Amino acid sequence: MPLDFQGLEDRLIDIVRDLVRIDTTNPPGNEVEAARYLADLLSPVGIETEIIEPHPGRGNLVARLRGTGEKKPLVLMGHLDVVAANPSDWSYPPFAAEIHDGFIWGRGSTDMKDMIGISAVIMLALARLGQPLKRDVVMMATADEEQGGDWGMGWLVQHRPELFDVACAINEGGGSSLQVGDNLFYTCQSAEKGVCRTVWTARGKGGHGSHPRRDIATLQLTRALNQIGDGYLEARVIDTMRVALTMIASARSADAMERTVALLDQGKIPEAMAAAGFDQDGIERYRPMFHDTVSVTGLRAGDPRYINVIPPVATAYLDGRILPGQTSRGFLQQLRDRVSNDKVEIEIYERQYAQGSESSTDAPIFQTISQVVAEQCNAQVIPWQCQGATDAKHLLSLGIPVYGFVPSRPLPEGVEGAGPHANNERVWIENLPFALHILGEIAYRFCTD
Ligand SMILES: [Zn+2]
Repeated sequence: MPLDFQGLEDRLIDIVRDLVRIDTTNPPGNEVEAARYLADLLSPVGIETEIIEPHPGRGNLVARLRGTGEKKPLVLMGHLDVVAANPSDWSYPPFAAEIHDGFIWGRGSTDMKDMIGISAVIMLALARLGQPLKRDVVMMATADEEQGGDWGMGWLVQHRPELFDVACAINEGGGSSLQVGDNLFYTCQSAEKGVCRTVWTARGKGGHGSHPRRDIATLQLTRALNQIGDGYLEARVIDTMRVALTMIASARSADAMERTVALLDQGKIPEAMAAAGFDQDGIERYRPMFHDTVSVTGLRAGDPRYINVIPPVATAYLDGRILPGQTSRGFLQQLRDRVSNDKVEIEIYERQYAQGSESSTDAPIFQTISQVVAEQCNAQVIPWQCQGATDAKHLLSLGIPVYGFVPSRPLPEGVEGAGPHANNERVWIENLPFALHILGEIAYRFCTD
């Protein structure tokens, strides 16, 4: 018998709106207010709640619905903080959660107060079952994800290790629908890229602007930057993407699958994607999934007030994103190999390095997700890589597999949304009960099987 959500669907909409109205812009965060809101919602039905506040205002909620303990707990994880929103760039106020055109508008509505609300309602539905589950279900709603998680998941992993004797976690980052040719897939994020940000410094002699020289710092730096081309570095097909492309191709035809696999083996990635059924747009959009990348995001040299002076130092800042398996050393080596100029120093910027990560698609939770989606959406789940980084990294460092799965249906033709970090971020209201039913069923099945 599936989990019963009667009366909870409308409540979910109210909860998501309430959460959006609690301004948790990070910095400063002030997530504790949202954590308290959730504790007040969950504790009356017998769910154990604890608010952990490692720094004033930086609140984390850990809520536990106790099971028999026969199996290890399932974690539903999510972050309470949001990125900044400038009201003048928005059509409606970003913290009012107004409803227009079938959407709840507001900062955090898709990243990720929707999922926080869904997890809370799943906890309520599981609590009223009145039947003990085979495992605890632990909801972790944490602070500070948008700034790395030092006051949130990172802190919990460091200081509350006893919370992490768990089977696996479901997180943000996946669940989007992906149409390839005639086939619809839902992505389950089982890998995410890491970051490796660098600062490049060129030094030269300063001097008078009336006397140009080839070896001045600004030219050394720009020549070096030119050597990284379009920013796509080493190409590699990680397991997650190999499985994904193979599944997509085999849904097309046995022949497409054979060709895709052969092309992947030859390292011909765009050709393999085309064989799997991606059009040119798709091939371009997902290109970062197969490369270490860099983007030049900052440049600094001189001062326009002294336009007649050659500056002795020029600096560039590069946002680097690395595939799972790549290391900081390997990545720096790649950059240095390309930049055949030892006058330009390349260093990691302010320790901004985090490895990418990958969880196995053989895990039981992945099977449960696949089964439920096959039954309820008539679609296949494919493993997928997230181009950004989430709090998953903290759990993966403990060896806990994490899967990003917040199912979202394709928007109807002509309807436009706006997702994480965008102005006018908004969540499609119709998707909320859909995601609730799917995720709820996944949690229920995983904890009763
Ligand atoms: Zn997020």
